[in-house]
Amino acid sequence: MKYAVMKIISLESILVDLPTIRAHKLARQTVMQQTLVVLRLRTDAGLEGLGEATTIGGLSYGEESPEIIKSALDTYISPIVIGMDPRNVNAVMAEIERHVVGNRLAKSGLETALHDVSGKALGVPVHQLLGGRQTAAMECIWGLASGDTAKDIEEAERVLSQKLHRGFKIKVGSKAVENDIEHVSKIAKAIAGRGTLRIDANQAWDELTATRAIAALEAVGVSLIEQPLPKANHEGMVRLASRFDVAIMADEAVATPQDAFMFGKHHGADVVALKIAKAGGLLPTKSVAAISQAGGLALYGGTMLEGTIGTIASLHAFASLPQNFPFGTELFGPLLLKDDIVQQRPNYSNFAIAVPDRPGLGVDIDEEKLAHYRRDKTRSLKPVAALKQGSA
Ligand SMILES: [Mg+2]
Repeated sequence: MKYAVMKIISLESILVDLPTIRAHKLARQTVMQQTLVVLRLRTDAGLEGLGEATTIGGLSYGEESPEIIKSALDTYISPIVIGMDPRNVNAVMAEIERHVVGNRLAKSGLETALHDVSGKALGVPVHQLLGGRQTAAMECIWGLASGDTAKDIEEAERVLSQKLHRGFKIKVGSKAVENDIEHVSKIAKAIAGRGTLRIDANQAWDELTATRAIAALEAVGVSLIEQPLPKANHEGMVRLASRFDVAIMADEAVATPQDAFMFGKHHGADVVALKIAKAGGLLPTKSVAAISQAGGLALYGGTMLEGTIGTIASLHAFASLPQNFPFGTELFGPLLLKDDIVQQRPNYSNFAIAVPDRPGLGVDIDEEKLAHYRRDKTRSLKPVAALKQGSA
């Protein structure tokens, strides 16, 4: 083995504020910029692992904001991992689990960095650590969320002609349901025969509203209805999934293997949106996927609008799974960002995103860009000797 011993000497978490190409309108929030939490895990072997823990719209999607994630990592998680071998991903995460309840976004960022450094140490891509990829590229849809019907149609036409995306997800739930139905119907008519449409209500509807909306949306050809009800309304989801032919997807409601078990057992959805951030890492995502499939649910490659690091980490996990992804993935986060903090952005072509085959994640930091966009405006690179002293 090339590295007989390897120890983590530091774990740095960095808030990075990146501008988006346009406003991204969701049920509870309009995203004008995206805040990534970038993790840099350094080892005494000189190898660095990268991770990302990113959420959507501050505290509007989940219970961890970027600032909460950074605080959890710096104050509670970093002291636990210093001195451990990052290649023992299971042992490191079990130790974290003993001390840290919840906080799955922070855990996902750490677990990603552990996989990155492990892959680099072995000279293999992360997907090989997960048993190898089952596909070289995965279908990637696009989110239409400008809030303006004409703009959304224009945007759909542009990405269709560029052969970037042919599946479209429309965010609904911030307006009256009649307005949402009209908006979606117009887009459906414009792209009929050339693209597919899905909607995401992000828990915004009650059951009565959802029933009316889904009937109308199904009639105009929408193929997937994402998280129509609040995540706690499990029985409502069961009723909607049995009532309608159109596929119903659980996103917020299924984060953990236990959630997947409950949804599979009662058929609370037809499809489950996998997200490494929700599950707490790549390995827990594989568990969620296995249990979902055992319960007869199809898989979907979800996003928290991560930048390149989190997007590529998700892709390694999704590509290693059985390719039961009838609605593909939505790993378009990097394309929503005006700029990025990595040297190689993901390769999008022919309606898909390509799985990198370089060691680790296959992503390198652009130090100048990171220095420019990091919130604290300090340089992140410290001499390794100083870090070693500090961690002793
Ligand atoms: Mg969603």
